[in-house]
Amino acid sequence: MRTRLDQLVTSALQQGSAVPAFTCYDFTTALAVVGAAEESGRGVILLVAPKTAATPNGLRLIAALRGLADAASVPVAVQLDHASDLAVMADAVAAGADSVLADGSSLPYEDNIALVRNARALLGPDVVLEAELGGLAGDEDRAFGADEAGVSVAGLTDSAQVEDFVSRTGAGLLAVAVGNVHGKYKGEPQLRWDVLQDIAVRTHIPLVLHGASGIPAEELVKAASMNVGKVNFNTELRTGVLATLQEQLPAHRADGENLQALLGHWNRSAGGFATAALGMLTR
Ligand SMILES: [Zn+2]
Repeated sequence: MRTRLDQLVTSALQQGSAVPAFTCYDFTTALAVVGAAEESGRGVILLVAPKTAATPNGLRLIAALRGLADAASVPVAVQLDHASDLAVMADAVAAGADSVLADGSSLPYEDNIALVRNARALLGPDVVLEAELGGLAGDEDRAFGADEAGVSVAGLTDSAQVEDFVSRTGAGLLAVAVGNVHGKYKGEPQLRWDVLQDIAVRTHIPLVLHGASGIPAEELVKAASMNVGKVNFNTELRTGVLATLQEQLPAHRADGENLQALLGHWNRSAGGFATAALGMLTR
C-alpha cells in the first residue's frame, strides 16, 4: 500500500526497528522483496539507482514498482537513490517515485544545501527528501573494495554541521557517513559509534545507513537505537542473486532453456535475503 517513506521509518523507529531498503535494478528482484515484506508483515523500501532512472526503460521500471508498491498488502515506498541531477529527479517522481535522495555529498557544503533546496522547490512538499552529509566511499552499483579501482575514501559526517544542514535543507532523513561504505568492506567494517552518537543527539530526523552489506546484524540493531531508521542494502543482494544464477544456469539451459524456473531461483535468492534483512532490523 502507498505510504510516506518518512512515516514508515518513523513508526518503525518508535518500535526500536529500522526499515530495510533494497536496490532494484529489475522487476524480478522487486517482486521478491515485496513478497518477503508481505510474508513478514513489515514495510519495505524499493530503491532505484540514478543510472536506472536516467533511461526511458528505467522510468518504466519505476512506474512498474509504483504499481507493485500500491498493490502490496504492506506499506512500500519507492525511492530514487543518490540523485544529483534535478531533471532525473523530476522524471523519476513523475514516473512514480515518492521519495528522493538528493545527494550533494560530493559537493562543497553550501552547494550540497542548495541542491536539496532546489530539489524541494522543484518536487514540491509531498515528495520525501533524504539528504546526505559526508561522502561515502565506494561505488553504489559495482562492488569494488573501497580502496580499489581508484575510489577515494571519503570523509565522515561532521556532526558539528548537522543542525545547520538539517534546518537549512529541510530534509526529512539524513544519510550519514560513519565508517560505512558502498560495495565490499576491506576487512571488518569499523562503524564509528562515537560519530553516530554525536549526530543522533543533534537532530531528530531519522538517520540512514547506506552500504549495510557486510555490517553484522547486531551492529545494525544497535544503530536503530541511535535513530538509524533506514538501512540500505545492495551489494549482498546482488552477490546472492548472481551466485545463484551462476550455479543454476547450466542445469536450466540443459532443461530446455528453462528461464521460468531460473527466475524462480532468482526470486528465492532475493526473497531470502530480504526476509533475513527484515528479521535482522525488527525488534
Ligand atoms: Zn547509498
